[in-house]
Amino acid sequence: MKKKNITLLGSTGSIGTQALNIISESNRYEIFALTCNQRIDEIVEQALIFKPKLVVVYDESYYEALKGKLAHTTIKVACGMSGLIEAVTHSDVDIVLTSVVGNIGLEPTIAAIKAGKTIALANKETLVTAGELIMPLAKQYGSTILPVDSEHSAIFQCLNGENHKTLDKIYLTASGGAFRNYTQDEIKHKKAVEALKHPNWSMGQKITIDSATLMNKGLEFIEAKWLFDVQPSQIEVLVHPQSIIHSMVQFRDHSIMAQLGVPDMRVPIIYALDYPDRFDNSVKPLDFQTLTALTFEKPDYKRFPCLRIAMDALKSGGIMPTIMNAANEVLVAAYLKDRIGFYDISEGIEKALSHFNNIQNPSIDDILSSDIETRRFVRQLCE
Ligand code: NDP
Ligand code: MG
Repeated sequence: MKKKNITLLGSTGSIGTQALNIISESNRYEIFALTCNQRIDEIVEQALIFKPKLVVVYDESYYEALKGKLAHTTIKVACGMSGLIEAVTHSDVDIVLTSVVGNIGLEPTIAAIKAGKTIALANKETLVTAGELIMPLAKQYGSTILPVDSEHSAIFQCLNGENHKTLDKIYLTASGGAFRNYTQDEIKHKKAVEALKHPNWSMGQKITIDSATLMNKGLEFIEAKWLFDVQPSQIEVLVHPQSIIHSMVQFRDHSIMAQLGVPDMRVPIIYALDYPDRFDNSVKPLDFQTLTALTFEKPDYKRFPCLRIAMDALKSGGIMPTIMNAANEVLVAAYLKDRIGFYDISEGIEKALSHFNNIQNPSIDDILSSDIETRRFVRQLCE
């Protein structure tokens, strides 16, 4: 069997390291390129184990240091956006795992699509900010997008082999995040350290805060709309605190398919990389004997306004999801530094959404400039 050549965009993060962990269990893969933003010690360690052809650091100020650390190897070192683009478009690459966090993933994802690569997509912000353009582009260039987000992987698996016309609705499950059991008054004073204690998943900081605000589910709502070509009214968010059912699909005969498993991202990561195959792995299987209950609740839009904001931004369409996403990234970064409070995140996003005029059918240039303008506006708000 020919080995698949993989580029990991964001190999030093939570998804990136879990991907390398599960990849190292098999001999089905070759790593073509690893990329990071600043954590060069971590990427050097990975490079010495996985021996990629190329290592890229996005932040150019770390380039010389990285080059020095890999000088005794034959590994090529690059930096900046041009480095990321080289890592995803090289003719040797079969699959690109987009595991960078944030809107920075947009340009390399577009480049990978145009190069006809298969995309294992973890970087949901790319679809939130530009899903309307990304999906037709993938079709045009014959690039397959395989979801890595656990909910979307579940939906994808439930839809496998089904006639899309028979899809009635999607149940998008949510853990409820760190503050599910707190009142609005209590949540108001919660700091990032507490928001970072996710009940079920160990993830990067940004997505863990997004889980606490339920913005993560809002982003996933938009992601599901674009990935599965459904109307927003066909997606229902269900809080399922155990994170065992990763999502469900209901067909028009009212038959429901669900995908279950332990909350371990290595399962959806390797599913996307191996698709359409499945192989043995070391992830511990779900033990039904130890499950006490699988419960479901309605999401509370009052305590978690970000979910409603995201659904409304999708309804407004145009540039609104871009503005929402950019504002959220800046506000979450400020919350992580204890510079703003929990509800300043949703309030700041709403201020940004009402400050800018909508642009329907935005181009990539509109999206990129709107993203920059929104970040500038929200940074001023934070000051
Ligand atoms: P992390 O913060 O753990 O990792 C982010 C990665 O992106 C790191 O390799 C980081 O490099 C790199 N990176 C950050 N900023 C830049 C930049 N400006 N330019 C280039 N590279 C950059 O994030 P996660 O792994 O948690 O999340 C990655 C994506 O996957 C997100 O979109 C998230 O929503 C999605 N996702 C994550 C899940 C999870 O379980 N973690 C689950 C489902 C989806 P460095 O280490 O140098 O900072
Ligand atoms: Mg998810």
